Amino acid sequence: MSPAPAQLAHFVHGREVAGSSGRNGDVFDPATGRVSGRVPLASKAEVEAAIESAARAFPAWAAVTPLNRARVLFKFKELLERDADEIAATITAEHGKVLSDARGELTRGMEVVEFACGIPHLLKGEHSMNVGGGVDSWSEYAPLGVVAGITPFNFPCMVPMWMFPIAIACGNTFILKPSERDPTPPMILARLLKEAGLPDGVFNVVHGDKEAVDTLLDDPRVQAVSFVGSTPIAEYLYARGSAAGKRVQALGGAKNHMVVMPDADMDQAANALLGAGYGSAGERCMAISVAVCVGDATADALIARLKPMVQALRVGPGCQGDPDMGPLVTGTHRDKVRSYVDLGVEEGAELVVDGRGLKVAGHEDGFYLGGCLFDRVTAAMRIYREEIFGPVLCVVRAPDFDAALKLVNEHEYGNGTAIFTRDGDSARQFAHQVQVGMVGINVPIPVPMAFHSFGGWKRSLFGPLHMHGPDGVRFYTRMKTVTARWPTGIRTGAEFSMPTMK
Ligand code: NAD
Repeated sequence: MSPAPAQLAHFVHGREVAGSSGRNGDVFDPATGRVSGRVPLASKAEVEAAIESAARAFPAWAAVTPLNRARVLFKFKELLERDADEIAATITAEHGKVLSDARGELTRGMEVVEFACGIPHLLKGEHSMNVGGGVDSWSEYAPLGVVAGITPFNFPCMVPMWMFPIAIACGNTFILKPSERDPTPPMILARLLKEAGLPDGVFNVVHGDKEAVDTLLDDPRVQAVSFVGSTPIAEYLYARGSAAGKRVQALGGAKNHMVVMPDADMDQAANALLGAGYGSAGERCMAISVAVCVGDATADALIARLKPMVQALRVGPGCQGDPDMGPLVTGTHRDKVRSYVDLGVEEGAELVVDGRGLKVAGHEDGFYLGGCLFDRVTAAMRIYREEIFGPVLCVVRAPDFDAALKLVNEHEYGNGTAIFTRDGDSARQFAHQVQVGMVGINVPIPVPMAFHSFGGWKRSLFGPLHMHGPDGVRFYTRMKTVTARWPTGIRTGAEFSMPTMK
C-alpha cells in the first residue's frame, strides 16, 4: 500500500505553521501519478500574518551590516552543498525532472547565492567630491522593505533563488509564494536559511493560489513583487501590482526559436536541439520549441538526424536509472500538451515523430509523453504561435536569413533565441537585430550567469528590470542621493534662484 500523502505547512517567522484556511491542493509524484502530498492554500488572513512577520523583521534586518548579511548567505551556500542530494531528490519527486537536471537547477540557483555574497561590494554606491565649493554628493542604495516572490512549477528552487538571495542581501525581508504543484523544495530552503542564522521573519513561505497572490499584490506593506510564470498571469500581476503602487517585475512565457543556417555543423545543431527541446521534457522557459531551418536542404539534413534521435529518447522516472527525460508535472498538463500534438496534426503540420502512445513499463499511471517532432509548421498555426511547454519541437522552413530573422521578430514572445552558423557576419547581424532578450550563438540555451541579468523582451517580460545580476540589485533597492555642504562652504545670505554650482 502506498504511504498517506504528506501534509505540508507554511513557514512563517522561523517556524512551520499549519494551514488554517481549510483549503488544500494535491501534490503529485509525476513518475507514478500518485498523490504524494497535500499543500495548504493560504487565506487572506494567513498571508497577512506572513506580511506582518516580514514587516516586523525588516528594521532590524536592514540595520545588519551588508558584510554580516553576506555571512549568513555564505553559510546558506555551505548548507545547500551539504544537502544538495536531498534537495535534488525532492525536486525530482514533485516536478518529475531527472536527478542530474535537478542538480543542475540547484547549481544555477547557488550561483545567485554566490553573487549575493558580494553584496558589500554591490551596495557601494557612488561618490563625487567637491561638486561645488565645499559641496560633496553621493548616492546610496536603501532596501525597500517587505518584498514578495511568486514562482512557477518548472524550477521550484532556481527561480525562487533568482530572487530572495539578492533581496535579503540588500536588507529586505521576503515572502515566497511558490508553485502549489511542487511546494516541498522551497520549504527545505527556508529551513536551511534558518539554520544558517537568518533571523526569524526575514524569509517566509506561504503556499496558495490566486487568493494568496492577490493579497500580496494589494497589501500596502508589500513594496515590490517579482513574478515568474505564464504570460497571462504575468500581465495580470503587473497591472494589479503597479496599480497598487508597487515595483513589479513579471517574467512570462516563451517560444524560443533556434535558427539553423545552411553552413552550420548539422550534427552539433541536431544535438543542441535534442537537449534544448526535450531536456526537462520541454518544461523550461528557455527550451527551444521552434527550429527555423534556412533552406529546404538544411531542414532535410536536420530532420534526417533528429528523427532517429527523438525516437530513441529514453523516458522514465527521473529518480531511476539515467533517463533523458522524465514525466510532465501533472496529468492535466500532460493532457494539454498531448492536445497540442492532436491540434498540430489537424492544422496540417507533418508529425515526424509521434510520442503520444508512449507507455513506461511499471509506471503506467505516470504523466509521461514521448518526444514529438513536427515538420512543415507554419507561422499561422496555433502550435507555432502558442507556448506548449512540453516535449514538442516544431520545424519551420524559411527561404533565407532575412525571413528567419523576421519570423523570430514577429513572434509575440522574446525570451531566448539562438543561431547556429559558422559565419560571423550572420551571427553578428542576428545578435544585433533580433528582438529577443537572451541570444545564443551556437549556444542553444543562453541562460545568463548569476552576475548578468536574466529577462526577455516583448510579452516575455513586464517591467523595466530583469532578474538577478546588476538589475536584481537595482530592483530590490532604491537610490538616495545626498548633497552635503559643511559650514565653511556656506555663503551668507538667502538664494532665491535655482541652485547652481558657481
Ligand atoms: P503559472 O502562471 O500557472 O503560475 C505561476 C505562479 O502564479 C504560481 O505560483 C501560481 O500559483 C500563480 N498563479 C497561477 N494562476 C494565478 C492566478 N489566476 N492569479 C494569481 N496567481 C496565479 O505558471 P506555471 O505553469 O507554474 O509555470 C510555467 C510557465 O512559467 C510557462 O509559461 C513558462 O514559460 C513560464 N516561465 C517563465 C520563465 C521566464 O524566465 N520567463 C521562467 C520559468 C517559467
